Amino acid sequence: MFCRILGFVALLLATNYPLHAQRAAFTVGTATAAAGQKANGYIEVPAGVDAGTNIPVVVVNGAKPGPVLALVTGAHGTEYVSIIAVEKLIGELDPSQVSGTVILVPLVNLLSFEQKVPHVNPADNKSMNRFYPGKMDGTQTDRALFMITKEVVDPCDYLIDYHGGDLDESLRPYAYWGATGKEAQDRISKQMVLAFGLDHIIIWGERPTDATASRYLDNTASLRGKPAIVVEAGHAGTVESDDVALLVNGTLSTMRALKMIAGEPHYIENPVWLGKVVDVISEGPGIWYPLVKRGTYVSEGMKIGYVTDYFGKVILDARSPVSGVILHVNAVPSLKKGDNIADIGVVAAKAP
Ligand SMILES: [Zn+2]
Repeated sequence: MFCRILGFVALLLATNYPLHAQRAAFTVGTATAAAGQKANGYIEVPAGVDAGTNIPVVVVNGAKPGPVLALVTGAHGTEYVSIIAVEKLIGELDPSQVSGTVILVPLVNLLSFEQKVPHVNPADNKSMNRFYPGKMDGTQTDRALFMITKEVVDPCDYLIDYHGGDLDESLRPYAYWGATGKEAQDRISKQMVLAFGLDHIIIWGERPTDATASRYLDNTASLRGKPAIVVEAGHAGTVESDDVALLVNGTLSTMRALKMIAGEPHYIENPVWLGKVVDVISEGPGIWYPLVKRGTYVSEGMKIGYVTDYFGKVILDARSPVSGVILHVNAVPSLKKGDNIADIGVVAAKAP
């Protein structure tokens, strides 16, 4: 009897998920997967003030009950490692071995990918990670993000947003974790980021707290009560297998922590927690010559590179305003006024 009661309690805990996560078919956009099946489809974004688009989506509906995890990438369509990693997961995830449901969105920003345009959606020149939760009376980015909020964020229990160094960014891998002040939610998101295993984690404070102006995807999920993290790997148009492996293995470890696949998660021990990120911004156009690489630790005042005019005259010595780690540095000679030369992470005084 004692054991049976314990078993009943354990069952209650294990099935403490929304009813839609039970073993019925699961639909996102035009993709409907029966229990134990994988299905492809599209999140249809209707035309409005400009053209519509169809965002690919895959539903891996596990044979066993469990939570709903959303994996979303390609908001920046030339952050290739993040896209290739989720493509790899589409192939690797076996619904017969999954407890719960995984929604995979491998490429939010199709035109960016197809036209090789970094940072923005060429349809309206907007970043596809700045306008959440989106709206239907806006441009294509606004409408696409509205549909992702509705079709992906609302039905999920947990979310991972993938990014990386864009075509012009030489980036070392890192994650973002932000506290919401809700103890249970923050404990789970912290468990997720530690299970993901990237060794530098930015503590993301001072984020929008208004759910109608959440701006970022992970923040949109967080403000709706769903533990969410951001992970970044890859740099400057490359698809290196080590970077892809970081994101694939990190995802599988996080799924183990969430008890969605078998096996033990691998938690990172004593990661470097970064308390803030400081930008170095270009004051004018010119040619960039870096003196540091991604991941270099620098002291305040250290020269990290310089900018010349088109005659070779040095017009700017770029110095680090803080002591910290180069999270990413401009990867190409081109610079225009206002470009981000580097992001420097400052090590937090203590772990959260
Ligand atoms: Zn990005």
